[in-house]
Amino acid sequence: MDHSLPMQDNIILTDAYRRQFSYLRLSITDLCNFKCNYCLPDGYQGKSSQNELSLDEIKTLVSSFAELGFKKIRLTGGEPSLRKDLLKIIEICKSQLGIERVCITTNGYKLNQFLPEWIAAGIDQVNISIDSLSPEQFELITSSSDLPMIMAAIHSAIEDGFTAIKINTVLLREHLDSQVKPLIDWVKDKPIALRFIELMQTGENTELFNRQHVSANKIKSWLVAQAWNKKNRSIHSGPAIEYEHTNYLGSVGIIAPYSKNFCDSCNRLRVTAQGQLHLCLFSEDGKDLRPFLQAGDVAQLTQFLRASIYEKLPKHYLQQQQTGATRNFSMLGG
Ligand code: SAM
Ligand code: SF4
Repeated sequence: MDHSLPMQDNIILTDAYRRQFSYLRLSITDLCNFKCNYCLPDGYQGKSSQNELSLDEIKTLVSSFAELGFKKIRLTGGEPSLRKDLLKIIEICKSQLGIERVCITTNGYKLNQFLPEWIAAGIDQVNISIDSLSPEQFELITSSSDLPMIMAAIHSAIEDGFTAIKINTVLLREHLDSQVKPLIDWVKDKPIALRFIELMQTGENTELFNRQHVSANKIKSWLVAQAWNKKNRSIHSGPAIEYEHTNYLGSVGIIAPYSKNFCDSCNRLRVTAQGQLHLCLFSEDGKDLRPFLQAGDVAQLTQFLRASIYEKLPKHYLQQQQTGATRNFSMLGG
C-alpha cells in the first residue's frame, strides 16, 4: 500500500539549525522485565500501571506527527512487548497516511511468540537488543536467561524470509570479547544489521559508566583495518555510521554519541509513555502533550509541535556530564 502523503501536505518539520525531523521514537510503556546493568540494574521500580497513553491518544499523536512530515515511527519503552494492546498500536501506526515505516525495539522477551504476530501485523523492522552472544554474559548484563530462545526466534524468522532485523549491542569494556568479533562473525552469512552503541551516561549509571565506557572509535578503527567500508549516507541516515564488507551478508553500524558533530544529523524526536515530548534524549525536561492528546486535538498539537521545535538545542552536552532529565533510558526509550 502506498502510504505517502501528497507533496503539498508534506512539509517537513525543520529546526533552527536546519535539521529536518521525520522519525518519532514513541515509548509506549516505562515497564521492563529485564535488569540491564546500564539501564535498570535493580529492575523496574514503579507501579505496574503508569498512566500510559491510550489507543485514542496514540492515534491523535501519530496523526499530528504524520501531518508534520514524519515517516517513521519506532515503538520502544521500557519493554514495548509488555503492552497487551501492542498489536493494536502497530495497526494504528501502520494505517496512518504518511507513515511509511513502523519499527520496534525490544529486549526479545518472548520473541518466539511475538515476532510472527508483529510480522503479520505489518511491522517493518525489529531491533533486538543483544549485548553478548555468550548466554552467561548476556545473563550477567540483563539478568535474563532468554538468549537461546531469542537466537532461535531470529534464525527461524530469517528462514521464513523476514530479514528486517537489527541487533543493538551496547559496548561494555568488560564484555567486549563476547560482543564485537562474535557478533560480526555471526552476520557473515546473515542479512542482519548490527548496531554497536557507545554506552551513554545517564542520571543513574555514573559509576558503571566510568567502569564500562569504551569509545566507539576503537571499533571504527578495527573495522577499517578488517577492510570494512563506510556506506554512503543519505540526508535521512540519522546518526549511525554504517559499514559493509564484500565477504559479509550483514552490515555493521556504529552509534558514537560522544563523537564530534554527532547531533548535526539528528532527525528524531521522542515522546514518553505519558505523552511528554523530549526534544533530545538528554533534554532538561519534557513538554506535556497530554492536554492535546486527551482532547483529540490534532490541529492544536501540530501547531504546538511546530513552535516547540525551535527550542531544540544544537547538541547534547554529554561530554560535560550533562545528562538532563534522563535518569535511565527505560523512561524514554533510548
Ligand atoms: N527494552 C527495549 C530494549 O532493550 O531493546 C527497548 C528500550 S531500551 C531503553 C532501547 C535501547 O537503549 C536498547 O538497545 C538498550 O540497549 C539501549 N540503552 C539503554 N541504556 C543505554 C545507555 N545508557 N547507553 C546506551 N544505550 C542504552
Ligand atoms: Fe529494559 Fe531495555 Fe532498559 Fe534493558 S535496556 S532494562 S531491556 S528498557
